[in-house]
Amino acid sequence: MIYLDNSSTTPLDSAVLDAMLPYLKDTFGNPASQHGAGRTAASAVLNARDKIARLIGCKSDEVFFTSGGTEAGNWALKGACLAQSGRGRHMVVSAIEHPALIESAKDMQKQGYSVTFINPDESGAVNPADVERAIRSDTVFCAVMAANNETGVIQPVEEIGKICRSNGVFYYCDCVQTAGALPFPTRHCDALGISPHKFYGPKGFGVLYIRNGAKINRLISGGKQERGLRGGTTNVAGAVGCAAALENAVRDMQTNNKKISALRDSFVKCVLDGIDGAHLNGCGEKLPATANISFDGCEGENVLFLLDLKGIAVSTGSACSAGAVTPSHVLTAMGLSNGRIKSAVRFTFGKYNTEEEVTTAVAELKQAVLKIRGITS
Ligand code: PLP
Repeated sequence: MIYLDNSSTTPLDSAVLDAMLPYLKDTFGNPASQHGAGRTAASAVLNARDKIARLIGCKSDEVFFTSGGTEAGNWALKGACLAQSGRGRHMVVSAIEHPALIESAKDMQKQGYSVTFINPDESGAVNPADVERAIRSDTVFCAVMAANNETGVIQPVEEIGKICRSNGVFYYCDCVQTAGALPFPTRHCDALGISPHKFYGPKGFGVLYIRNGAKINRLISGGKQERGLRGGTTNVAGAVGCAAALENAVRDMQTNNKKISALRDSFVKCVLDGIDGAHLNGCGEKLPATANISFDGCEGENVLFLLDLKGIAVSTGSACSAGAVTPSHVLTAMGLSNGRIKSAVRFTFGKYNTEEEVTTAVAELKQAVLKIRGITS
């Protein structure tokens, strides 16, 4: 398989699996237990939390474990809004956020909160001035991600963070796509979320950084885990795996970025030069991994299926539910034409891709597009 869907998920690195295995087998204690087996597990969790804190650039007691990026986003948005409902019930959310934030905002709308969704410009970037304009006296929360998962466009988080801070607005920055590719904007936000399955770590584990002093309620009631803010037996192997994967990702950031962006750039050049009617979506500063390209006269899903038949894995930004295809909310918010949105395909590169794979993928993609155009024209 040629795997060009690395923004969706990545394979678990063997070294990360090796670090996790003892905690799935022999060292299986519950870190909340007081006996030796529990203390051994608790010490592994403590080390993982310390390591993650050092890599994110925060204190250990600002690191909270979750079940993934989705829970981190839900917790930040709902928890921060609920904690500050006495002060106001309005939030500002970028229209290109992951559904974890968009759907959470819609949940809160049903509870009487109001939401201003901010569209990006056609390049895919949110304008900080739009965020500033949307902030009202009753605004308590803002979410603008570090970089978008569909286009890879990097967002001006430092500026947005300053605007939020000076207005007393809790700022959540979804760093799920940037962890391991860009430095963390820890100083500029009140909370940020990461998910290790995006950087060769385990699925079903995530981290929410919450700045000490930031006001947030818990969503999951239960035991005293995570300083009483998130009940549930700690996923010890997940924490150990996340710490190991993040350590590798941060250590190898420059080398990986260089390799991955070279592969992506050569792919984009070959596609734009070699396939008529191919258009790159999103411009400006982008993540090294991402290329979102539309093909005139094609449906993105058909390109995906034909490439899949050739063993090449890519994705579209559209969501498929009950047999109906909903167009990408990100490309829609950017104001792209219907044709451009329907024909978009996302190719995301990773550290295990090779130049030969790029060459094969370009050739197969060209065949697929020609075949579809032959059928559809
Ligand atoms: N946020 C962004 C930007 C993502 O790309 C994703 C996953 O694709 C998530 C949040 C959700 O993370 P998880 O899969 O860990 O729930």
